[in-house]
Formats: sequence, structure tokens, C-alpha cells
Amino acid sequence: MKPVSLIRTVVPTVAAAIWSLTALAAAGREAARPTVPLLNALQLAQYCDAKLQQAQQRIQALERPESAAPTKAADAKALLSAWNQLQIVLEDVQGPAELFSNVAPDPQVRTTAETCLLAVGQLSTGLLQNPAVYARFKAARAMEKSVDSVDKKMLRDVTNSFEDAGVGLPPIQRARMKAILARLDGLSQEFARNLRDNHQKLSFMPEEVKGLPEDYLSRAERDDQGNYLLGFDYPEFAPFMEYAENGEARKRYLIADTNRGTSRNLDLLSEAVTLRREMAALFGQTSYAQFVTRRNMAATPQAVQRFLEEVRAKVAALEKDELDELRALKADLNKQALAETKVESWDLSYLQQKLKRARFHIDQNGLRKYFPTDAAIPWILHVSGILYGIEFRAAPGPSWHADVRYYDVIDTHSHARIAGIYLDLFPREGKVGHAAVWEVRGSSSLAGRTPISVLIANFNRQGLDSEELETLLHEFGHVLHGVLSNTRYLGQANSSVERDFVEAPSQMYENWARNRETLSLMSRFCLSACPTLSDQQLEQIKSAHEFGRGILYGRQLLYAAYDMKLHGQTSGDPLQIWAEMEDATPLGHVPGTEFPGQFGHLMGGYAAAYYGYMWSEVLALDMLSRFHGKLLNPVVGQRYRKYVLSRGSELRAKDLVRNFLGREPDSTAFFEEISGRRPQ
Ligand SMILES: [Zn+2]
Repeated sequence: MKPVSLIRTVVPTVAAAIWSLTALAAAGREAARPTVPLLNALQLAQYCDAKLQQAQQRIQALERPESAAPTKAADAKALLSAWNQLQIVLEDVQGPAELFSNVAPDPQVRTTAETCLLAVGQLSTGLLQNPAVYARFKAARAMEKSVDSVDKKMLRDVTNSFEDAGVGLPPIQRARMKAILARLDGLSQEFARNLRDNHQKLSFMPEEVKGLPEDYLSRAERDDQGNYLLGFDYPEFAPFMEYAENGEARKRYLIADTNRGTSRNLDLLSEAVTLRREMAALFGQTSYAQFVTRRNMAATPQAVQRFLEEVRAKVAALEKDELDELRALKADLNKQALAETKVESWDLSYLQQKLKRARFHIDQNGLRKYFPTDAAIPWILHVSGILYGIEFRAAPGPSWHADVRYYDVIDTHSHARIAGIYLDLFPREGKVGHAAVWEVRGSSSLAGRTPISVLIANFNRQGLDSEELETLLHEFGHVLHGVLSNTRYLGQANSSVERDFVEAPSQMYENWARNRETLSLMSRFCLSACPTLSDQQLEQIKSAHEFGRGILYGRQLLYAAYDMKLHGQTSGDPLQIWAEMEDATPLGHVPGTEFPGQFGHLMGGYAAAYYGYMWSEVLALDMLSRFHGKLLNPVVGQRYRKYVLSRGSELRAKDLVRNFLGREPDSTAFFEEISGRRPQ
């Protein structure tokens, strides 16, 4: 299974995060390049204080309007502009702090960043509960008919943010809401820290690592007795589950991996769920799921349940068939009777790898030579450039670690530098363990602010297998959504779209990893000659991709249903609920596993929104159909950039999709995909 992918999560209210160190200098024709500030712990603390002071001054100015209420459209626009400037100051500190709390090599910087984020959260909640500032926006809403659709939606988005933070609650409940939000920030930080800073290594004897590729074993750490010491980084864990022949060793590693957040994380999750339920009740909502979905495309928990039921109806039979095939394979491998053979959770990756190798001649580890990491990166930059009319230019400069690379994003039509990206691709101690994009800086054309996105991953340095190549494409989809954003206001930049749409651009881009036309360009970026996939091999990769759809979506369904149950109307112990729900699946629950303690999505922005992965995919695959299989067609690419990527949340997601497609969205492609029947 692919590593989880998260986009940056923010306090539920204040428009997203991020900053610029070197603000766009007005001096000269060429604006200074905005970069991520490189600060030690002391400097970061000072920087944080200074930015929060600036924000406080701007808030005070917002509290004192020149006139009591806007009387013309220009007043509403001036208010939105002042709000935008305040958001920029906040993003200037929140963006780098969120990034560095997850990737800074110096643990003191990570700790300081976390402290700073708690202060930002406090200030943001205080701002969104500020009745004087809220009153100004309420008054400005009266001007709605006089402003354009972007301003109108922005006025609504901002007032919604105030209302969701509890500005309209009586004082005691409002104070309680503030305390809950602050506590949730702290819980979420501790949860992530427990995962990130777990350096536990498991020891495996040489006979337990039989079957693993030689290049994997030669890189692994060993102790004095010659045992292999393996941790929870993706490049160590995932190949072990695919290749280690010893089932008991895989079982031990799987159980340890699901416990890597420690039992403390189960307590943190339980407290968060309880607080969210209390929060929803403050607003008269029957559940946190209701509180969340009302701002999303789905609109109600009932709509989510109907969708999940539809998915269940489509995947259940396929999942069973695929598991039966794996069972037959296991019986064969173990030379035992089918009736005595049971597929276990720790067999899944291993058996799928074996089956795909036998049936489709696909050896994932063997694919790495086709996709060397140092070729895959310039390749995806090139492909994205063709499609969207942009160019990535490497610009050397200091960064937070020697592995990190920076590129300017240049529009090939205007020759303007429109954004910047950082790539931080390899594992190291103290760095977050999954793949994700941090949108450190969002766009605002009104303020001349260009975006910066940071891609964080934990790739194998030598090469990628086809699933990791998909992960790269997925994350790069988030990067492009960030850097091609060209919104008027920061609050509507890129990932501020509805949470159940935010994965769509990334999921669509995964398809570029299995396309003849795009992959044929890979070999030109190989430093030393690398082989090119034959047509037959590519067909085999596609067939291998199709196998396991039932198992994959069956699992996604469990995650989404668990999230909705946890945040539904009835309360209960998170681990117990999980164990019961997992036990009802074909593979059942493995005693000793504690999956919820490392389900980071539930502590970030995906609480009551995990279903959004599949909901987004409906739209992703529908949008893909507009390319008609020609994935390097710049005409469609530019159209997609114009109607979807550049607009952020200036329109509702369903309107973005409709404008791009020229018709109403349709779920046919998604249901073909999860049934393993979509033409590739
Ligand atoms: Zn994603």
C-alpha cells in the first residue's frame, strides 16, 4: 500500500498557512525571490514573536474602522484587502513553522516551531472570535450585490470562518470553544511527535530476512551478531512486507508498525474525538461529522453514508475474489490444502507481490532500474512543464538540509517567475515518515504574492518502483495545485478548496505514472543509460495495477467508515470500535495491532473527512476523461490549469469541475476503477 499522503493541515478556520521571508522587494524590476526562512531555534522564536505582534497590530486596526459600516463596494474591497494582508502576516509565520515542526534536522527548531504554532493557533482563534471584526464582515455582506463573484464568495468564506470558530456563541461557550481548539492543536502535535520521533528498531535474524532483495539488505543496519535492525521508515518497512518469506517475521513487523504511535496516541485520539463531539454540540450539531460535512461537497453525513454504501456494493465481491486468489496462491506456496489455508493481514503485500510477479511478470523491486530517482525527478518536472506551459529552473541556495533542492517555476508564456518549489525526498532522523506537501506560501494576486510548495517524501535513493512513482505523481499533483494557484486572495489559494475535493488533482495525476507517452520520456533523463519499458511491460504494469482494486478499496472503505463512526452520534473507545469494525472485514482484526494510534489523518484535517479520498477520486477520474488518453496534450493541460488549478476556492469545487468538463460531473469512471474494469 502506498504511504499516506497528507496535505498541510491548519487550524480549522484561519485560511491556510504560510509566509515569506524575503517579502517581494519592490526595488528594481526583478522582485527578490521569496524563500523559506532558515532560522535557528532562537531566531525562529524571535521571528514568531515579531510576526504575531505585527498580526496583533493589524487586528487592532481592523477593529477600528474609519466608518461604522461599508456603504459602497470599495469599502467591502478595502476590508477584504486588509484581511488579506493580515492573513499574509499569519501565513508568513505559520507556513515555515508547520514545515519545520515536521522536517527540521535540529530537534530544538522542531520544538520551537511547535510552540510557535500553538501561539499562532491561539491568536487565530482569538481573531475569529473577535466580535468587532466579525461585525465589519457582517456589514460588508450587505454589499454582496455590488461586488464580483470572487469577492462575494470570499466575504461568505470569511464570515463562515468566524461563525465556525464560535463568534456567535454566548461568552461561556465561546471561551470553551477557544479552549477546545487550543487543546486539539496540542493533541495533534503530540500525536505527530510520537510517530515522528519513534526511533525504535526491530531486530531480525538473517533467516528472517530471506527473500529480501540484495540491495535492500546491503543498505540495512546490522548489530554485532549480524542481525538486521529495521525501523518504521517506508523504504525499510514496505519492501519487508512484500518480500520477506518468513510470515512470523512479517507479522511481528506489522504489529510493531501499527503500535509505533504508542498507546499514548490512542489516549490522544480518544480525547480529540470527545472534544470534537463537545464542540459540535456547542453549535447544536448532532455530531462532529455533521459539523464538518456541512462545509464540504457531501454536505451531510447521510450523503457520505450513501456514497460508502455504493462503494461497498461495488467492491465487496471483487475483494472476496481477489482474496480467494491469494488464498489459492498461499496454499500452493505452502503446499497445504486450500481448506486449511487462511490469508492473514501480514500476507497481503507478500502474496500480491508474488501473484503479480507470476501472473504479470512484474517485480516491483526490479522496476527501480527503469525509474532511477535522479531521473524520475527531472522527468516529472519536464512532463509538468509540457502540460502546463511552465519550466522549472534549479536555483542553488541554502536550505534546511543538504538533500533539499529548490526550483523556480517560470511561466513559459510570460517568462515571469510565478512560484517556487522545494523537494525534500529522502528519509532522515526526526523527519516526518510519510509523503506530503506543505504549501508554505499561498498565492494572492492582489498582494503580488507568489506561492511556494514543499514536497516531502521518503524515497529510495536508487530508484522508484511503480507504486512509488505513483506516489511521486500524487504528491506532485498537490505541488502543482499550489504553485499554479493564481487567486486574488490568499484565503482562497489552492488547498482551501473543500476537503473532499482537495485530493482530486493529485489522484488524477497518478495516472501519468502508467502512460506510454509520458513514460517514454523517462530515459532521456537517466544519468547513465537506463532501460526503457517495452509496450508489453507497460501493459503488464497496468494489469498489475488493476489486480487488488477490491482489496485496496475495501480497506479505504474501512478507514472512511471508521472515521465517520468515530465522529458520529454515538461515543465509544476508538480502539474497540476499530477492532470490531476491522473484525467484520474478510481478513479480520489482528490482536495486538493498534492501527488508530498511527492514523495521522484523524488528528489532522481529515477528521470526519477521510471519505474525501474516494469522493475526490470520483472527480479526479471524471476530469481525467477530458484528456482522452493524451496525457501530454498542452491544450487540455492549459484548460485544466485555467479552470481548476489556478482558481483555488474562488468557486465551489463542483463549479470548477463543471467549467473544466463543460458538463455535469459523473461517477462512471470511478466505479469502473474500483471494480477493476476501467480502461487504462
Ligand atoms: Zn494527497
